[in-house]
Parts: sequence; C-alpha cells; structure tokens
Amino acid sequence: MARDYYEVLNVPRDASLEEIKQAYRRLAREYHPDVRRDDPQAEERFKEINEAYQVLSDPQRRAEYDRRGQGSAPVGPWDFETLFDDLFEPFFGPSRSRRDRAPQRGADLRYDLEVSLEEAAHGCERTVELVRLDTCPACFGTGAERGGGREACPSCRGTGQIQFSRRTAFGHFTQIRTCPRCGGEGVVLRNPCGRCEGTGRVEVQKTLTVRVPAGVEEGTRLRLPGEGEAGLAGGPRGDLYVVVHLARHPVFQRKGQDLYADLRLSMVQAALGDELEVPTLDGPERLVVPAGVQPGEVLTLKGRGLPDLEGRRGDLHFRVKVEVPRHLTAEQRKLLLRLAESLGLEVKPQRRRILDRMKDLLP
Ligand SMILES: [Zn+2]
Ligand SMILES: [Zn+2]
Repeated sequence: MARDYYEVLNVPRDASLEEIKQAYRRLAREYHPDVRRDDPQAEERFKEINEAYQVLSDPQRRAEYDRRGQGSAPVGPWDFETLFDDLFEPFFGPSRSRRDRAPQRGADLRYDLEVSLEEAAHGCERTVELVRLDTCPACFGTGAERGGGREACPSCRGTGQIQFSRRTAFGHFTQIRTCPRCGGEGVVLRNPCGRCEGTGRVEVQKTLTVRVPAGVEEGTRLRLPGEGEAGLAGGPRGDLYVVVHLARHPVFQRKGQDLYADLRLSMVQAALGDELEVPTLDGPERLVVPAGVQPGEVLTLKGRGLPDLEGRRGDLHFRVKVEVPRHLTAEQRKLLLRLAESLGLEVKPQRRRILDRMKDLLP
C-alpha cells in the first residue's frame, strides 16, 4: 500500500508549491542513492520521494490526487533529466544543453514582392535581391581555417562531458554534465575561420529569379525551398517565402477577381451608341456601347478580369460616365435647340457661369 504523498514529503495538505519543492530538495539530497551508497532502503525511499513530488508539484495531478485519495493517482515515467536538473541546479548553475550544437535548420526568409495586375494575370519572372546568411565559402561551413581542422576539446579531453565532484554537508556528490566549452561535441576548432569568425555562415547579397504564376492574388505566398538561410552544423537550409502584393493600377480597380474602370462617353455616344476600343489586361479590345446607355450603367466584358490559380477569370466592368460638352459653337447651340424642339422639350438657354468660363481658361 503506497504511503500518503504528503506524509512522504512531510508537508501539510495545504502546503504551497514552494514548500513542496523545498521539502523535496531536502529529502532527495538526503536519500539520493549516491549519498547513501550502503543503505539498501535509500533507493526505495528515493523513488517514493520522487513519486510524491511528481504528483504534488503538478497542480492538475495534485488536485486529482486530493480528490481520489492516496495512492490512486497514476504516476507516469519520470523525466530524470528534469529531476536531476531540479535537484542540482542550485549547486552547479545552469548547464548548456547538448541540443545547442545539434544540426539546426536555417531560418525561413520573407520577401515582399509587388507585381502589376498584368503580371498577376499572365504570370511573370522577377529578379529579387536579398541579403541572407549563406555557408561560408572560406571554410565551407566548418568554421575552421583551411587546414586548421578540429581538435579534441582540451576541457573534457574529447568526451563531451565533465564530471563534477563535490563534498557537501549532505555527502559526496558526483555529477556528469555537458562540457560547456565544446557543448558536448568533444571537439573544438583549432583555428576559427577568419571570414565567418568560426560560425560557418556569412551574410551575402543574393540575386534570385522568382517565377510568379498567373493567378496570384494579394497575399499569395510563393515558397522557394532551400533559398532561406543556410543551416548550422550540417542542418538543412530554410525556405524563402515570396509574399505577393498587387500594385495599384492606373486604370483598373480590383474587387476580388473582378476589375472596374470608368468609361467616359459623350452625350452623343450615349444617345446613339458606339463601338469603342477599350483597355484590358490583355491589350485593347472592342466594346459595343448600346444606344441610349444611361450614366451609371455598367458594361461588362466577361472573362477579362483577373484569373485565379486554376485559370478561372473574373469580369471587367465599365461604369458609364456621360460627359456634357462645356463649349458650344453658335452652330452647335442651334443644332441642340432644334433637337430640343424635335424632342418636344421647352428650354430657356442660359449663358455659362462666369466662374466656369474662367476655369476653362486655366491650364
Ligand atoms: Zn569539451
Ligand atoms: Zn568560415
């Protein structure tokens, strides 16, 4: 029958986390098997202490334990590294993790690229220039001066580990830690590369060609695998992400895949209808303006908008604006008056405002 965890750690049931940690440290040092080598009970006791600590130091597991009663809380496999760090940190200070020197993937990079609507519609190739960390060409990423190579780490004699021994009030401790000089690799550079200062990477300006496919949208991310930063210690390169932005167009406004533009018609064109050449992303095209088109009406060229990546295209919409002539010759005035008469309109023609006439004189 397992003992009550609070009893094991000799703390009250309402002990704070800090109290539990203190009690654990004290007991673990006391019953550490290395300390009590000749006490066969110590190992059992040490396990019990750890089990109690694993549960009571975890608020969720502690609540579960309190609810279900002693001995019934499941105890998982212990992370001994954590346990030992927890126990020994105050003596030896933080250690350098061995993982620091493991192969590390290079960072991903981002490049923001602005393309015109024409380029987005048809695809394009663009040249981009960026600064990134590449493998040092002088040492090929080894970080060592040519011929310098590596040598066994003098601190740990190539083992990557250092043994600490301490005699304390609680007994004699021996602990093995990762060597801080070589980070556990067991080797150090004999002669660090002068170009990259031993890091194995240098900043370089790089020119790349980016193929932008037809159908990109605002915010489309293009991934260029392996064009990010070089990895460390033989790790793979990162990727480059080109983020596409659509530039403002002098003629077209964008709404999703659809495009909009103003179509300025004279009142004669609007009344009689016309056939015009209009701009599109694919070059000039013919647009039929039906007779009697009204201001604000929309004339649409189907499939002349922006494509998506599957090639489905939006539409191109022209909003009709009707322009009224500002200047009329005596002859034109007469013709309009006759038109009015023919339409049965009664008009009282006015002279133009003096301010408008002055505006016309300005450039
Ligand atoms: Zn070393
Ligand atoms: Zn180098």
